[in-house]
Amino acid sequence: ATTRTPLMAGNWKMNLDHVQATHLVQKLDWTLKDAKHDFSAVEVAVFPPFTDLRTVQTLVDGDRLEIRYGAQNLSVHDHGAFTGSISGAFLAKLGCTYVIVGHSERREYHHETDQHVAAKLGAAFRHGLTPVFCVGEGLAVRKEGRQVEHVLEQVEIGLSDVTQQEAASIVIAYEPVWAIGTGEVATPADAQEVCAAIRRQLATTYDEETADGVRILYGGSVKAGNVAAIMAEPDVDGALVGGASIDASEFAAICRYRQ
Ligand code: PEP
Repeated sequence: ATTRTPLMAGNWKMNLDHVQATHLVQKLDWTLKDAKHDFSAVEVAVFPPFTDLRTVQTLVDGDRLEIRYGAQNLSVHDHGAFTGSISGAFLAKLGCTYVIVGHSERREYHHETDQHVAAKLGAAFRHGLTPVFCVGEGLAVRKEGRQVEHVLEQVEIGLSDVTQQEAASIVIAYEPVWAIGTGEVATPADAQEVCAAIRRQLATTYDEETADGVRILYGGSVKAGNVAAIMAEPDVDGALVGGASIDASEFAAICRYRQ
């Protein structure tokens, strides 16, 4: 039987300064602890802006919190003359477990191509970070019914240089672009269709065991009220949550979807 630990990942996007970050992480921690949340049964991670990471690290280390954290992006480069960029080495030094790679907002507003995303996956692995690799189709592709084909191509290009050992640790997030921040949530069956197709492709590219171990998240307007139905699908192993993750009570309720 499969034993993938569900992951609830909160992408704060460009919200919350480091003072607000402290409040949110503390409230999230005590809300979950009050509810006797088992962090080893459902993993919880937050993805604050870069400028908050040092503060979150201090909180997590100082109070031995079980909440994990990561960054929303990283550079393909390790260091050098790249003004404004942040290297995976810096993120690793700040204790990040994860880094989001290829979020649709980066693909759209910063013109990140599938090849660019592939290079970022390489950078993440080089520094011992676990990528949360985002894929997903836009509305036009969905209307043509080509979502599976489109997403599998993103996965194929993204993973072109990823070894089996690296693939075994990756997290993939299926986020239909039309469902991000729109309130428009994919049906559980829509999420399952694409997540299952991604898993089948992993089995072909690598092997069954690798595919079986990879966590595939759904993202797109996930809230406390819709998360349980999505999580009931066999190939959905968690959620990448945007808007609802900057409210500690709502995000805690998402993490507590089994209750
Ligand atoms: C996201 O940013 O990854 C996301 C899914 O956003 P939202 O939950 O707000 O749709």
